[in-house]
Amino acid sequence: MEKVDILNLSLQELQDAIIEMGEKKFRAKQVFQWLHVKKVLDFDKMTDISVQLRGQLQKKFCINRLFVQKRLESCIDNTVKYLYRLHDGNFIETVLMEYSYGYSLCISTQVGCRMGCGFCASAIAGFVRNLEPSEMLMQIYETEKNSDVKISNLVLMGIGEPLDNFDNVLKFLNLLSNKDGNNFSLRHVSLSTCGIVPKIYELAELHLGLTLCISLHSAGNSARSEIMPVNRAYNIQELLKACRYYISATGRRITFEYAVIDDVNSSDSDADRLSGLLRGMNCHVNLIPVNKVRERNYRTAKNAVSDFAERLEKRGINATIRRTLGSDIEAACGQLRRDAASENAWNGGADI
Ligand code: SAH
Repeated sequence: MEKVDILNLSLQELQDAIIEMGEKKFRAKQVFQWLHVKKVLDFDKMTDISVQLRGQLQKKFCINRLFVQKRLESCIDNTVKYLYRLHDGNFIETVLMEYSYGYSLCISTQVGCRMGCGFCASAIAGFVRNLEPSEMLMQIYETEKNSDVKISNLVLMGIGEPLDNFDNVLKFLNLLSNKDGNNFSLRHVSLSTCGIVPKIYELAELHLGLTLCISLHSAGNSARSEIMPVNRAYNIQELLKACRYYISATGRRITFEYAVIDDVNSSDSDADRLSGLLRGMNCHVNLIPVNKVRERNYRTAKNAVSDFAERLEKRGINATIRRTLGSDIEAACGQLRRDAASENAWNGGADI
């Protein structure tokens, strides 16, 4: 029988499994705390658990560690980019960033992505599979161990579309914020989506307290459909209706991400359209220079981001400019994974 990754289990599920083993219910909380509070990822080191129960746990469960395939550290700002190898040979990326308020971790939610955004390296490499809740948690636990830090903020903005892996992402967030476990406040979590409208409504009903970020990147349907195929399924008007609902249901402000791209979305009329769309909304715009992706010609001219911010401000829309971290370790999200996957293919490794 294939072993189950114990980090995928809620406390309730762990209690059920441990009772089934003929043990007392409180043992489950002990094990849960070893895993999620002390982050001990080895049954043999759970010293207040009997040898017999450890043996039973060992037989039924596994703890799938992540292996550091590559670790790139920026000389400019201490950003660390990890390429992690999963137990099945697939690769994902995780980025650790240092801010004045603490450490923030950008995690992946899928191996690859099926959303097909034209400017995104993850899309070019295609979709392989969803990440399990345990694999999202492990990005935090392994990075904390490897870099000897405590993560205080989390962004679901790495490889993948979190709302396309909705159930696993929710289970991960529940595990992460469990009071008997890691007790991580979801107020310190941002989730970024390209705009899967029905899932935004579902998320609104859950009142998780997290910050929703929308990758908008254009205020016109034809341009947005061109760079983001998801817009053909859910257009800007439907998306903004869902956002307004989210704001009214949760009382939370939404962040709109906007990569400023030459000749695509940064003209005066783009600023007119964007400010027209967002006026009066409880939101904030985060402008990003586009990361260069080898196969694509998208670029951001030198002052284009600050010029566009000025255009928006003139029209009454507040915009911030995202700090680019780790520019020397480069690699737009998804590029390390692609490189590793093609190197590995030469060696007969992971097949993607
Ligand atoms: N699928 C989710 C989260 C992953 S992408 C989403 O679409 O939001 C995280 C963010 O990086 C998104 O805003 C995405 O549009 C942006 N992004 C992807 N490739 C980029 C690039 N080459 N330059 C700048 N931003 C990029």
